[in-house]
Amino acid sequence: MLDLFLDETHHALRDSAQAWVDRHIAPHAAQWEADKHFPRELHRAAAEAGLVGVTYPEAVGGAEGDVFHGLVVAEALIRGGSVGTAMGLGSHAISLPPILALGTPEQHQRFVAPVIRGEKVSCLAVTEPAAGSDVAGIRTRAVRDGDSYVIDGSKTFITSGLRADLAVVAARTGGDPDDAATRHDGISLFVVEKGTPGFQTGRALQKMGWHASDTAELFFEGCRVPAENLLGGEGAGFLGLMANFVSERLLLGVSAVATARMALEDSRRYCGERSAFRRPLHGFQVTRHRLAEMAAREAGARAFVATVAERHRRGEDVAADVAMAKNMACDACAFVTDAAVQLHGGMGYMAECRVERLFRDQRLYSIGGGTTEVMNEIIWRRGLAD
Ligand SMILES: Cc1cc2nc3c(=O)[nH]c(=O)nc-3n(C[C@H](O)[C@H](O)[C@H](O)COP(=O)(O)OP(=O)(O)OC[C@H]3O[C@@H](n4cnc5c(N)ncnc54)[C@H](O)[C@@H]3O)c2cc1C
Repeated sequence: MLDLFLDETHHALRDSAQAWVDRHIAPHAAQWEADKHFPRELHRAAAEAGLVGVTYPEAVGGAEGDVFHGLVVAEALIRGGSVGTAMGLGSHAISLPPILALGTPEQHQRFVAPVIRGEKVSCLAVTEPAAGSDVAGIRTRAVRDGDSYVIDGSKTFITSGLRADLAVVAARTGGDPDDAATRHDGISLFVVEKGTPGFQTGRALQKMGWHASDTAELFFEGCRVPAENLLGGEGAGFLGLMANFVSERLLLGVSAVATARMALEDSRRYCGERSAFRRPLHGFQVTRHRLAEMAAREAGARAFVATVAERHRRGEDVAADVAMAKNMACDACAFVTDAAVQLHGGMGYMAECRVERLFRDQRLYSIGGGTTEVMNEIIWRRGLAD
């Protein structure tokens, strides 16, 4: 992250997080990406190293850090070289905030604390086969029956869906996705635990990048969950999901600039080592200028993401700005990783070359956590419309 906003506690955390990542992730990154899997034990090891609970309340075992403590850890994890591992390890970052925002202290202890200790893995399940950006279009239903709710429906593209012990599931307790007047009503969040009858996971979805993370379909058929697993009241789901908006977009923004920086570092090194026409690649002005442009784009996006994070830390409303920051960071990363592949020539197309992976992995940043187009809608509505 931008050093301007960091104090000695952030620097110390960054150093210790990076040392842990260099030891526990970096040496295995290529293999885990090839295996499309990283070891489950890594969740516990990361928790023991203090990398999971950084920004969560002390009452659930967290360290109560600020937004920058979270961002320096996120950047260190990405710098391990396996975006899939970083995202799989980080699935708590989108699933725990809704529980903390809506849940009771008892629910916090039951569901959040074991994840922070690394004993359990959590995921967030909102997206459905027919509803992604359009959350109000979800069709999974939860019907009250005595002391329980019975959930029917399905979810898809869920990060850590296969390994998660608990899923925070968005389901309708009211409203109608086909009725403009009520489709935003009645969206509720439930914690569904692995092993609950009627809850099944599907196959591991095969994807362009993020290979080490599992991405799954979830199925609910007459799945009976105790009423005490409802978070907040019926219809509080949107409020719970809003708890993720700023932090998730900042995390993706930081992931994008961290990915861009790695691609830039690899390219700079390669252009010094590789020769063509009897001179190193950076002996060509066009190559030097391309590297300069990559550096400028990465630096600009990094500075803007950090500035928005700082304004968020001060309590300002950054809804439009964080959408801009995410889009800027994704654009910068797309430009830098594409240029990095080009500068590596044929080697940039080889699976053994890290920039090949970074180029594929970055493609999701502008789709996940709200697409570029959805961000643009927010920028318009929250920043430009009036
Ligand atoms: C690897 C991976 C991991 C994921 N992890 C999770 C997870 O853990 N939990 C979870 O719930 N979801 C997860 N997702 C789902 C992700 O959040 C959605 O894919 C994303 O929100 C987009 O939804 P969609 O795929 O349905 O695309 P759609 O919403 O169908 O969008 C298709 C296109 O239409 C555009 N579009 C949609 N609405 C508008 C509009 N109003 N104006 C202009 N253009 C529009 C979009 O920008 C996009 O270009 C994951 C996805 C992937 C690929």
